[in-house]
Amino acid sequence: MSIIVNPDLCTGCGQCVQICPGGLLSLTFSSERSGSRTENLSNAQLTQTVGPAEIKGQVRINNPDCCWACAACLKECRFGALSLFLPPALGGRGASLTASASKDSVVWQVLFPDGRQRTIAVNRQIADRY
Ligand code: SF4
Ligand code: SF4
Repeated sequence: MSIIVNPDLCTGCGQCVQICPGGLLSLTFSSERSGSRTENLSNAQLTQTVGPAEIKGQVRINNPDCCWACAACLKECRFGALSLFLPPALGGRGASLTASASKDSVVWQVLFPDGRQRTIAVNRQIADRY
């Protein structure tokens, strides 16, 4: 079980890297000018080095087998760039989960292999009581 990164949506903001309790995520930045790839530098460091317009950040998961599908990174990503493979017991083979979180709610969306979708909205204030 592991997350999936949509490279077209990931901005390299690093929020998911901060929140992963297992420290499984890291950022890779590439400079279009030099074509070089450098990992684990902060945005500020790279801005000083090559200039902001040339930087393309991207998150990646290291040791995907260690991901226990807590979904914290999904809720943290404001760009919808992450989804999670669901085990057969939860969604069937090939199903995936995305999340869209705001201050008051989390909207979960399950996408099944046959194209069906299921949306589950959770009120955070009520959920936090339990
Ligand atoms: S996956 Fe989302 S939260 Fe993580 S670096 Fe990319 S845009 Fe930011
Ligand atoms: S689902 Fe949880 S353990 Fe897996 S990468 Fe995201 S934050 Fe880390």
